[in-house]
Amino acid sequence: MRTITLIVLHCSATRTTQKYSFRQCREDHLRKGWRDIGYHYYITRDGQVHEGRPLWMVGAHCKGHNQHSIGICYEGGLNAAGYACDTRTKAQRESMYALLCRLHNQFSSAIIMGHRDLSPDVDGNGHIDPEEWVKQCPCFDALVDYFDLEPDGLLRDE
Ligand SMILES: [Zn+2]
Repeated sequence: MRTITLIVLHCSATRTTQKYSFRQCREDHLRKGWRDIGYHYYITRDGQVHEGRPLWMVGAHCKGHNQHSIGICYEGGLNAAGYACDTRTKAQRESMYALLCRLHNQFSSAIIMGHRDLSPDVDGNGHIDPEEWVKQCPCFDALVDYFDLEPDGLLRDE
């Protein structure tokens, strides 16, 4: 098994009004010439957790951070008007939490972060501020939502 230091959360950046299935996401990634879907898990709006790449395999979901991470994506992330929004359904939230609990038990030192939290710290103040986000993905604050599942001793200064 690889060393896992990060669990990165993503959204599919599709509207709540638009269905974007696991199969479709996988096909879109294969069309890019990838060997498989880029994520290790994909959670559809019904809360079903679809297994993508096996955990031992490096994913393709966050440039520069794939080697030691697990990528999880939920279907959605844009509201009906196309704006970034936490569109997770109750079923998606429950499945995501259960999956993260399981992964936290297996990889207890891995930090759970949103894709946007891995944007470059342009002004070098040690924080990834909203104006530094390369994209909004996953459209919620993973460090706040899953603080109870972060590794022991992960410091917060706010
Ligand atoms: Zn992303």
